[in-house]
Amino acid sequence: MATMRTPIESGVPDNKPYLHPLMRKNYGNWKYHDRPRPGVLHHVSHTGDEIWTVRAGTQRQMDVYTIRKLCDIADQYADGHVRFTIRSNIEYMVADPNRVAPLIEALTSSGFPVGGTGNSVSAIAHTQGWLHCDIPGTDASGAVKALMDELVSEFVKEEMPNRVHLSTSCCEINCGGQADIAIVVQHTKPPKINHDLVANVCERPSVVARCPVAAIRPAMVNGKPSLEIDETKCMCCGACYPPCPPMQINDPDNSKLAIWVGGKNSNARGKPTFMKMVASGLPNNPPRWPEVSAMVKKILYTYKEDARSWERVSDWIERIGWPQFFEKCDLPFTKYLIDDWRGSRSSLNASTHIRF
Ligand code: SF4
Ligand code: SF4
Repeated sequence: MATMRTPIESGVPDNKPYLHPLMRKNYGNWKYHDRPRPGVLHHVSHTGDEIWTVRAGTQRQMDVYTIRKLCDIADQYADGHVRFTIRSNIEYMVADPNRVAPLIEALTSSGFPVGGTGNSVSAIAHTQGWLHCDIPGTDASGAVKALMDELVSEFVKEEMPNRVHLSTSCCEINCGGQADIAIVVQHTKPPKINHDLVANVCERPSVVARCPVAAIRPAMVNGKPSLEIDETKCMCCGACYPPCPPMQINDPDNSKLAIWVGGKNSNARGKPTFMKMVASGLPNNPPRWPEVSAMVKKILYTYKEDARSWERVSDWIERIGWPQFFEKCDLPFTKYLIDDWRGSRSSLNASTHIRF
């Protein structure tokens, strides 16, 4: 007789064993929640149970000493229960209201700001950067650190019109996702090909198929199989670089940074929206990226001043219109900004066929 197949446990593990016991007990049975102060959530269950969650910002890419310190705080003040949010905040759960203040004191005195709830500027969702990924045109953590140093006062308060999500993406392929304000790498020159290496390193048909505008062709160069780029078609997206590292596109001078605004994932008030580019060609200027920070702050504080209560950045722009947005933020408008997809049906490589 056929036996039931047992599941193969290769997906996300069940989180129930790791939940705070009170959360496990009241799973799916919460009545309401409120926020007694920025950085603290208070959930009340239909059974009358209550739990307080304290949220603190972290630097996301952490050394083992920092993680141990966060764990020690959890053991001492929160019965060892923590979780991380998608924006790299750490959350501690306690069932006793008298434990909230000592926990906040322990976190802030150790250098972890408590905040990131409600209408605050949340910690920046940032991509891997040089530490883990093989294709970045800049570091993500560095730009995030430089910017959050300047915006931490907005993380610990809830004084924005609505929540503000920021993100960075250290390549144009962009695993940073949508955000109210995003920093995205912008390559401005086509890749330079090292023809000596292509035949050994790259699977040429995959690279050809990868190009969204069909600008890459196979070619024989110096008697070796290689590739060539039609530079009049290339839009400098960098998609060919991951499958073929000899097609180097990162460049300290010609890889710039762009600012995009108005993206959101939530369905609240309106549908999710895609962000659009509003500033380009900013220098990739480590270690503090002052030009990028100044531009993000200019947009953020114009939004803070001008938006109505509960408007996200996209709602605000929709109400005032793009010309007003550029005027209020003192940004020059060019034909390359906002709508870069007009004509995409005819210009982008929408076919799955390999072209030579
Ligand atoms: S944004 Fe691009 S380079 Fe940065 S981590 Fe994601 S895929 Fe890698
Ligand atoms: S994949 Fe992008 S960068 Fe590479 S050739 Fe095509 S358009 Fe240019």
